[in-house]
Amino acid sequence: MSLLATDLVGTGRFRAYGPRQLDEIADRYGLPTEVRETVRLVSLVLPFRVNAYVLNELIDWDRVPDDPMFQLVFPQRGMLPEQDERGLAALSADPGTKAGLRALVQQIRGRLNPHPSGQKELNVPTTRDGAPLPGMQHKYRETVLYFPSQGQTCHAYCTYCFRWAQFVGDADLRFAAPDPGGLVTYLGDHPDVTDILVTGGDPMIMTTERLVNHLEPLLGVDTVRTLRIGTKSVAYWPQRFVTDPDADDLLRLFEKVTATGRNLAVMAHFSHPRELRTDMARRAIARIRSTGAVVYCQAPLIARVNDDAADLAALWRAEHAVGGVPYYMFVERDTGPYDYFKVPLARAVDLFQAAYRTLPGLARTVRGPVMSATPGKVVVDGVEDTPEGRFFQLRMLQARQPALVGRPFRAFHDPAAAWLDELRLHPDTPADIARAVTGSARAAEAAEDRDDTADTGPLAVAAGAH
Ligand code: SF4
Repeated sequence: MSLLATDLVGTGRFRAYGPRQLDEIADRYGLPTEVRETVRLVSLVLPFRVNAYVLNELIDWDRVPDDPMFQLVFPQRGMLPEQDERGLAALSADPGTKAGLRALVQQIRGRLNPHPSGQKELNVPTTRDGAPLPGMQHKYRETVLYFPSQGQTCHAYCTYCFRWAQFVGDADLRFAAPDPGGLVTYLGDHPDVTDILVTGGDPMIMTTERLVNHLEPLLGVDTVRTLRIGTKSVAYWPQRFVTDPDADDLLRLFEKVTATGRNLAVMAHFSHPRELRTDMARRAIARIRSTGAVVYCQAPLIARVNDDAADLAALWRAEHAVGGVPYYMFVERDTGPYDYFKVPLARAVDLFQAAYRTLPGLARTVRGPVMSATPGKVVVDGVEDTPEGRFFQLRMLQARQPALVGRPFRAFHDPAAAWLDELRLHPDTPADIARAVTGSARAAEAAEDRDDTADTGPLAVAAGAH
């Protein structure tokens, strides 16, 4: 019996399937040959991973390839430039060109902006001696991101993931900490850090025993008051909290954290309301909440997956109905197959507002559209028509520089712009915000010198600023 068939008769054990099982998946679920071939080629560059729960419970195979969950996990035609796909097809058809194929794959990956938002250059903290600390990022004063090395995969991979570089096996593209020793020392030197976001990949891919090794030492640091766990496991493998052999131990660990008086925030990634419709997902959330943990829900807005106001409203209502807190609707970052998934900011605001309007007050905890960009998290609050023209109303929700948090600013409306670096700031933008947003001294000077810039026009944000 094949692996997939074993899963279908319900062993309930987690197994990941990737390009090697593609033929089996295609045969079982009736994937057309052309779609199968595209998945095979694109998955040479972008990571592809799925499991039986996603295949059986989340994908509507009658709607493939347009089905949102199929788009979410299966690499698609159009994610890579046509000429790259043709190049991959030509080289992979010839067994004598393996080195050439490897080189092309590396070249394409390098062009896909593997570390957006300056993660690699700007966010890596250092020891007292100035050596970089592996597996950590420190972008905002109060929060450190921690990447346990055994948590750098997921139960399935999202095709749009901005962390895709973590999964392609290139050591140079990975963040990973073997243990929390370096983090604990760092926290001793940085008492301002109150929140640790344990992330990946997906930390929930680890056994509970490993998770204990990574989390328990953090409970010895008094200044850490909140542990956040970033995970999509509730959507992709809710069995992790319900029927996995160490699911009960996991809940005991959660209880141990909350019993110390700390907040335990499960930052659950839900992309589509279908992910919350299964009994298993709802049971998982109920069990997590029974430990005292709070489930915050977030996801990027993604073309072809959830760029529909009715779906967004249904998603946030479903999150609220199970006791979760709708939190962020992010804007897709410029990485991986960005052109395939991006939603322009103007449309993102419309979708957000149309969905938000229909929500009960208690579900209006969701914020968006939010760009997690180099200077910080920037929300597009709306669009404003003035005698001067049409503008996006923007606000820094979070910032590297705390003095910028909460401050509004404006940019000229552009129906095609999809990220901060495509916007022109209004000439009245305060100098510190302009400097942070543009990353350009020249632009900041222009903002300071605003009397002379009545019609200076664009304060173009530096390319590659995120
Ligand atoms: S589950 Fe999260 S980290 Fe994993 S591929 Fe999806 S978005 Fe990326």
